[in-house]
Amino acid sequence: MALIVHKYGGTSMGSTERIRNVAKRVAKWARAGHQMVVVPSAMSGETNRLLGLAKELTPQKTENAYYRELDMLAATGEQASSALLAIALQAEGIESVSYAGWQVAVKTNSAFTKARIESIDDQRVRADLAAGKVVVITGFQGVDEDFNITTLGRGGSDTSAVAVAAALKAEECLIYTDVDGVYTTDPRVEPEARRLTTVSFEEMLEMASLGSKVLQIRSVEFAGKYKVKLRVLSSFTPWDIDLQEEATSGTLITFEEDEKMEQAVVSGIAFNRDEAKISLVNVPDRPGIAYQILGAVAEANIEVDMIIQNMSKDGHTDFSFTVNRNEYAKAVDLLKSKVLPALGAKDVVGDTKICKVSIVGIGMRSHVGVAAKMFRCLSEEGINIQMISTSEIKTSVVIDEKYMELAVRALHKVFDLDQVKA
Ligand code: ASP
Ligand code: MG
Repeated sequence: MALIVHKYGGTSMGSTERIRNVAKRVAKWARAGHQMVVVPSAMSGETNRLLGLAKELTPQKTENAYYRELDMLAATGEQASSALLAIALQAEGIESVSYAGWQVAVKTNSAFTKARIESIDDQRVRADLAAGKVVVITGFQGVDEDFNITTLGRGGSDTSAVAVAAALKAEECLIYTDVDGVYTTDPRVEPEARRLTTVSFEEMLEMASLGSKVLQIRSVEFAGKYKVKLRVLSSFTPWDIDLQEEATSGTLITFEEDEKMEQAVVSGIAFNRDEAKISLVNVPDRPGIAYQILGAVAEANIEVDMIIQNMSKDGHTDFSFTVNRNEYAKAVDLLKSKVLPALGAKDVVGDTKICKVSIVGIGMRSHVGVAAKMFRCLSEEGINIQMISTSEIKTSVVIDEKYMELAVRALHKVFDLDQVKA
């Protein structure tokens, strides 16, 4: 008997029929003697629907007061799906209780729409588990110290599930989703993509941060920090398949590098269409400009990804960086109104039609020339590279959005990712 956390994504919770299936699957695990905690997402489309309603009422706002209400609104999606799942479990003859984030409580900071979990109180949940109940906890949400409801950013239920697993010291956290694991790249872009049976935690961290949508990045960070055993698997297998078979399917995120039988140099290709590039043109080149620009951006809680400062010419330079596309307007606004006048820079220009394509693999540590191979491949396809960034286990490039599919497929082939490994 073990304490197990299941997480079900929006598609898996997409209708009462599917919720019934989830309940049957969870009931199977509970009847096998496991203590079960389940963290569901909102029913598919629900979060978008709710946020769409807000948008109908107001143009894009940037005030904190507005973001607070967005969280108040969006959190209802998970409250509904959690209650429905508890009801479905009860209908299966399983004692079950659901809790909203604030009832547990899942405490977060106050960064509305992208709050971070700070602590989880496990008392109430443990008491229910001890009493033989299946506990359902809303994904995606928490509460700040002033009792405001917060949400964790899109896809945040993954993070809720892993954080709950960490707080309860669960044996394993299983992320049930509409794909059957982690792939070498998105099969919708490259049909030759293969499922990985294991992927190292570090690779998963890079892939998640680089735009693979399988897991929210924070969830992987949490898993790493608290060594939560994490598995991504399909929720579309029949609910009554053999429990052992189910428990070993999908992709396991491992912490042992040598657990990987064979070390591919590159394990996956990630891509991301969610970024936009911002350039400040003709910035006087003096100490402190990076701080003046990016300090202001950070203060506005806008995350910056890649950064490039060009060589200076006649005491002036160009400074470019990328931000998430949905924060692009906010960032440009801020730069134009506050930073530009203070800097004496000439102009702010932006490009939203970019994408980032990355190769990831812990094998890159022990191999030279991997990045060069990537650049050659892109040049052979006639694709211009606008920005480059590297770490020990990844190389990313920013390119024109229209070449994204082409780049992903070419790289997938060049690094032999379509070859089935023995
Ligand atoms: N329902 C939220 C979203 O759509 C959280 C999640 O599904 O993980 O982003
Ligand atoms: Mg998700």
